[in-house]
Amino acid sequence: MKVLFAVSECVPFIKSGGLADVAGSLPKELKKMGTDVRVMMPKYGTIPDPYKQKMKKKSEFCVTVGWRKQYCGIEEYTYENITFYFIDNEQYFKRDRLYGYDDDGERFAYFNQAVLESLSQLDFYPDIIHCHDWHTGMIPFLLTSKYQGRERYAGIKTVFTIHNLQFQGIMPRSALKDLFDLDDRHFHIDALEFYGNINFMKGALVAANKITTVSPTYMNEIQTEYYGEKLNGLLAARRNDLSGILNGIDEEVYNPVKDPNLVQPYQSSLFQYKKANKVHIQQQFALEVKDVPLITMITRLTKQKGLELVREVFHDIMMENIQMIVLGTGDSEFEHFFREMEYRYGDKFKAYIGFDESLAHQLYAGADLFLMPSKFEPCGLGQLIALKYGTLPIVRETGGLNDTVHSFDEYTWEGNGFSFSNFNAHDMLYTVRRAVRYYNEKAVWSHLTETAIIMNYSWSKSAIKYLQLYENLVSRSEMYVLQ
Ligand code: ADP
Repeated sequence: MKVLFAVSECVPFIKSGGLADVAGSLPKELKKMGTDVRVMMPKYGTIPDPYKQKMKKKSEFCVTVGWRKQYCGIEEYTYENITFYFIDNEQYFKRDRLYGYDDDGERFAYFNQAVLESLSQLDFYPDIIHCHDWHTGMIPFLLTSKYQGRERYAGIKTVFTIHNLQFQGIMPRSALKDLFDLDDRHFHIDALEFYGNINFMKGALVAANKITTVSPTYMNEIQTEYYGEKLNGLLAARRNDLSGILNGIDEEVYNPVKDPNLVQPYQSSLFQYKKANKVHIQQQFALEVKDVPLITMITRLTKQKGLELVREVFHDIMMENIQMIVLGTGDSEFEHFFREMEYRYGDKFKAYIGFDESLAHQLYAGADLFLMPSKFEPCGLGQLIALKYGTLPIVRETGGLNDTVHSFDEYTWEGNGFSFSNFNAHDMLYTVRRAVRYYNEKAVWSHLTETAIIMNYSWSKSAIKYLQLYENLVSRSEMYVLQ
């Protein structure tokens, strides 16, 4: 079985969120199970030099992007037994950020076509191309339109994973011709047309053989109007090809037992481990070293993450006997808000506005509670990492949060965190207070944290589900050929 991941970001090379974690860890797990899995991604200028120095040029050619002919280099690097191919074009990818440019449509139109052209350049024809999010959404569509006539391409199957339905790659109608040299035949409701524009993600949703998303609850939610981002009808129509497979975390990267970022790894005593890491964080952030619940948030600062709820009851939260640290970057309204709150409540609240992987690990280990009140959450890795580090999540019951966090039941003592259902600031506040109350009931707290830290959050179960999906697709096509 040969599988090619096409993805816009991947750990350890470059990361803006959970997508990169998944792209970095799922292939490793699939490889362990005997799949020939390779990963193709853009060669961003901001990939650290030590990685770039090890890349070897495999091929150079031109990619057609509408009326343009653009340079394309393929560079190869084998990291932890996985072959990575980097698509090199400095005009498109040698920039400060990954996304958020006016020509993102053109950049990723180029990337999609470069991925497809690379197959013949490398003479590597996978059984399956596994695409992720809108940045690679046009690959399934192009494969079933432009590339159908090409020998060796026709048998390739596609899987498309929705990591976040909110970002779809919506471009003007003119992009059809201008970026893909496709004619108006493809501009209709069952193809790329989307409210007068074209939509990269829709291209995948109509053309991919199988669609997955990253949790069972999100799979159900996106077929409804509230969560469906105007694609719910199409997703419901394709429900027989849609599945929800939970993400896991890479336990080589997130492992409190051997994490080099921690002042004290977890050995036998959870109490000692927590205390040492908490004191370290308190000192680092100039908070008083004392035994009160330390709440953290490590997140993109966007509305998706429920920050409006936090803002609405922030003063009430600050009335509790707690400390709180936010690590995040994103929308300026939230960056300003948290900076201002630090100014106001500096003795108990700190904001680190930035992206810092090592600090994130230290916070996961040092905090007691991890707040993630998302408006929607396809899977969420933050709560899984928190649990792995013995830090209890406080979440809203949506998407993957609903599938992975179970609110503590005081009668049975079951659960691994605290949750609330409605997107309502006071429900969240009530749940924060509930969690703080149990922090002070040491028997409950030890039970919950000790259960959390030993559970399995790895890819082992979910990788098997992906493998089964691939195998079903490939064996189905073999049956078809046989007939
Ligand atoms: P999303 O993919 O929507 O951003 P996830 O919870 O799935 O959310 O994944 C977020 C990942 O990014 C986690 O690994 C989290 O620790 C990390 N992360 C988010 N913000 C920061 C930050 N400011 N600094 C370091 N790591 C961060």
